Amino acid sequence: MKLSIVVPCYNEEAVLSRFDETLRAVLGSLAVDYELCYVDDGSADGTLARLRGLAQQHRGTTRYLSFSRNFGKEPAILAGLRAATGDAVILMDADLQHPPCLIETMLDLYQLGHDQVVARRSRTGDRRLRATLSRLYYRAVNRWVDVELTDGVGDFRLLSRKAVDALLSLPEYHRFSKGLFSWIGFDTVTFDYRNAAREAGETKWHLGSLVDYGIDGLLSFNCRPLRRAIWAGLGLAALAAGYTLWIIGAALAGGVTVPGYVTLVAIVVGLGGLQMVMLGLIGEYIGRIYYEAKRRPHFLVKESNPPPATAAVPPP
Ligand code: UDP
Ligand code: MG
Repeated sequence: MKLSIVVPCYNEEAVLSRFDETLRAVLGSLAVDYELCYVDDGSADGTLARLRGLAQQHRGTTRYLSFSRNFGKEPAILAGLRAATGDAVILMDADLQHPPCLIETMLDLYQLGHDQVVARRSRTGDRRLRATLSRLYYRAVNRWVDVELTDGVGDFRLLSRKAVDALLSLPEYHRFSKGLFSWIGFDTVTFDYRNAAREAGETKWHLGSLVDYGIDGLLSFNCRPLRRAIWAGLGLAALAAGYTLWIIGAALAGGVTVPGYVTLVAIVVGLGGLQMVMLGLIGEYIGRIYYEAKRRPHFLVKESNPPPATAAVPPP
């Protein structure tokens, strides 16, 4: 069998050589036919130069693509999956947070017939706050979406050719891989590993992007948030009706009293905020339709090795 390793890289110059060496050492010891598919996601540092070097050094087992700009990790994963030719594909980060020594375990489980072999990382080493927020997020989000999203489970996994083809058959522009992996199903097995710290370079995540990612997770799979918005609206309307009746009753019984200023302001501001959230929700869905309707490619490639078949020089 042939194994493809897909590695998205964005500004990973500092760690790339070490990653490549470690990976090749592990793969060499496994006696398996392999190819490494690096995707340079428009890095601003020397990542592309390193990739060219690696492709020179290890002809035949190294492929790379370089995007025309930074498109994001999801498009990079998609590009890697499209480029991979193996019977099984492993997705890995370039920063050595996904230990290459786990590949053997993954292959063993794959040989047992599983289509997705998923590595679940423990959150030891993460900041306490981030770990707690993640746990709360997943507990909440799983009530809202159809697919099962699990804490600690990310892109580090082995996919059989069947699973890869299934993923590639999903054409959506906004890709939330974590959900897509779950959506395609197939025979899935999960095992735990200890989280390693990033070897070099720095993480591209900050609080804002994590919140964005969380919202994507919520909205990428169904319209249930819209349904909940309707329920919230109905609930509030019922409360308002009850309150109005109560005020009318009080006015009939004891004459008109001037209602409290604070209550009024609180209600106006609270409802205003809620309406903004609901509008934003609707806007998000419309925005997604807008992106899908444009049918733009997920990424643009400026350089690749081997070069794409269509780029061949036409006969004179
Ligand atoms: N990455 C990418 N494009 C981006 C951001 C990240 O290809 O826009 C790659 C990055 O090079 C790394 C992987 O995605 O190989 C995970 O990124 P990072 O380590 O920043 O995320 P974390 O491990 O902190 O979740
Ligand atoms: Mg990382």
